[in-house]
Amino acid sequence: MSPSLITVSYLASAALFILALGGLSTNETARRGNLFGMIGMVIAVLVTIAAFVTRNLEVLIAVMVVGGAIGFVLSRKVQMTQMPELVAILHSLVGLAAVLIGFATFLDPVAQYSGVEKTIHEIEIYIGVAIGALTFTGSVIAYGKLSGLIGGQPMMLPARHWLNLAMLVAVIVLAVRFVGETDHQQATLLLLAMTAIAFLFGIHMVAAIGGADMPVVISMLNSYSGWAAAATGFMLSNDLLIVTGALVGSSGAILSYIMCRAMNRHFVSVIAGGFGTSGGSSSGPSIEGEVQTIDIPALAQILNNATQVMVVPGYGMATAQAQHAVADITRTLIKKGVKVRFGIHPVAGRMPGHMNVLLAEAKVPYDIVFEMDEINDDFPDIDVSIVVGANDTVNPLAQEDTDSPIAGMPVLEVWKGTTTVVLKRGMAAGYAGVDNPLFVKDNTRMLFGDARDSLEALGQAL
Ligand code: NDP
Repeated sequence: MSPSLITVSYLASAALFILALGGLSTNETARRGNLFGMIGMVIAVLVTIAAFVTRNLEVLIAVMVVGGAIGFVLSRKVQMTQMPELVAILHSLVGLAAVLIGFATFLDPVAQYSGVEKTIHEIEIYIGVAIGALTFTGSVIAYGKLSGLIGGQPMMLPARHWLNLAMLVAVIVLAVRFVGETDHQQATLLLLAMTAIAFLFGIHMVAAIGGADMPVVISMLNSYSGWAAAATGFMLSNDLLIVTGALVGSSGAILSYIMCRAMNRHFVSVIAGGFGTSGGSSSGPSIEGEVQTIDIPALAQILNNATQVMVVPGYGMATAQAQHAVADITRTLIKKGVKVRFGIHPVAGRMPGHMNVLLAEAKVPYDIVFEMDEINDDFPDIDVSIVVGANDTVNPLAQEDTDSPIAGMPVLEVWKGTTTVVLKRGMAAGYAGVDNPLFVKDNTRMLFGDARDSLEALGQAL
């Protein structure tokens, strides 16, 4: 394949990836964005194989068939509620790939570098393996936390900041020795030692981050997986991989920034771990007051009399798969002349955009779905807020208790409306493990039960 054809094809792929990212920025264009990304990736893979694979093509095809089959089966089986875990485990695979490619490149007997070129090549390998290793173990721990295999509470080792610092210093010292080392076997041992430290660093970094700060971790690991891919691109001298990795790395970094801003956190405090938990109890002050319940006919009646309704979905909507029932009720109320809107907290659910994806799947019109910042001042005008399985994102303690793990996080101020109806199964706390005084406020009514069952019954009653 001629070099100019490779360059043109790679440019086309890169342009398609940029269009994909642009498309993914709004609900309306997300499908088209995904399509651009898929076309770009098909071009990238085919051109790379045609241009660079000169031996062992059958091994490559066999591996691609096996990998593709696993991906196909997984994507068909995975539930919408398991998407966050799936994303985390996919990030871990990018990190692992960077580690393996780094070692393969370093041990490759064919590659011959000397002088400055050798130094640059070794630095590329070292950085690629380091980022890949911490992305791998960090993402595996994130997977464990998101799937409930590991508790969501931060692991607070004594002197944890010193431990992080010691690991960072060790990685730098090993880097200096690795690059200056002329004995290949000794250099391999140094690379292995650094990999072990980076594995531990990834585990410690994510384990130390508290439940409510997990969204930042997810977007940060997304960013790291991009930088790991870019570093792999440098190792393999593949321009498209560098560009693609940089696109993922920088968009993940922007997402981390947006998540930090949404949660009123400083990036460095989140990464250092245990933010907002010093001295505070994870469940917060126990809530005092009486829980008032409501039944389906009574809720149907207040909705029939309402002028403005706000639906506030949270993770419980995802677990109950209640989005279609929510969409049905929305259509019914709109037909009756009620103004219905949705208020979406940026960290509602278990991954960025989780609620938007579910509502889009249920065909809720985009123009009635609003971000928290756009809608939070409107709650005093709302007659009924229906909270569908949201908890931390509507918890007033975030504004009241400075010791709480969610302290300072902006929340949807549902309690400022006339009546708030909360749909959940019991009095369990949310992901951050904090009790919620919203449930005992005078104008709150609890509708206990699975959100989907409750909403389907409500649909009948309406
Ligand atoms: P929460 O996780 O705070 O609360 C969800 C609530 O849903 C629970 O209290 C639970 O109560 C209820 N619930 C569960 N299943 C059902 C069901 N079948 N029917 C009805 N209710 C149900 O949700 P939020 O969306 O408000 O907050 C998200 C939290 O997750 C935040 O702390 C955020 O930081 C964190 N997070 C977010 C990520 C992201 O990227 N968006 C990633 C990782 C963490 P009960 O058991 O009583 O029914």
